[in-house]
Amino acid sequence: MIKAKISEIFDSIQGEGPYIGYRQIFIRFCGCNLLCDYCDTEFNKGDEYTVIALIDKLKSFDLKDIHSVSLTGGEPLLQYEFLKEFLPKLKELGLKVYLETNGTLPSVLKQLIDYIDIISMDFKIDSSAKIGDVYSKHKEFLTISKNAKKEVFAKLVFDEDLKDFEINECAKLANEFDITLVLQPKMVGYEIGVSHNKIVEVFNRFSILHKDTRLIGQVHKFFDIR
Ligand code: SF4
Repeated sequence: MIKAKISEIFDSIQGEGPYIGYRQIFIRFCGCNLLCDYCDTEFNKGDEYTVIALIDKLKSFDLKDIHSVSLTGGEPLLQYEFLKEFLPKLKELGLKVYLETNGTLPSVLKQLIDYIDIISMDFKIDSSAKIGDVYSKHKEFLTISKNAKKEVFAKLVFDEDLKDFEINECAKLANEFDITLVLQPKMVGYEIGVSHNKIVEVFNRFSILHKDTRLIGQVHKFFDIR
């Protein structure tokens, strides 16, 4: 029987991006294919769930007032075999599926896209993702999302080291696919880990290059909510 390793399942608010403040049930899958420098997520320890056990666990929450179920991680798309069985059952509950992904596994997205409603995709920088050409993977990922007419937006976590050419590449992708781009300064614990000057500089540059740019921090950390 297919199982997925899940580090936590909890009811909270979305703390990032344009859906900030909405109530969601979060399912945090273990494991990731990237090694981002700034990663602060504990996604290695967890418990194994079968599809039926996870559906039962979800039913133990009050589902009637939630906005959606967030599949997060780690990288949820690494659990392709499990999701292939789980997502149809999740949709039977009448819930919206919100995918938080690093946008590097387009072939998996293609298999699951019909079951996903909203895609929150991270733009990764080659130097921090450490898997080579991330740009072309993002491009393929966005093509699949757009062709399937899914709601998709991108988030870029940045720090002092963000370079001009990286800004140009991200803005080019956001323009090409006409998506909202959310800039999110890196956090160090509960503190903003980027200087005021760098935040203003990055926001100003992106705003010139891509009209639909927003600067949004991680709100759940200000409220001390996980
Ligand atoms: S993609 Fe996300 S979960 Fe994976 S290493 Fe990077 S920040 Fe961490």
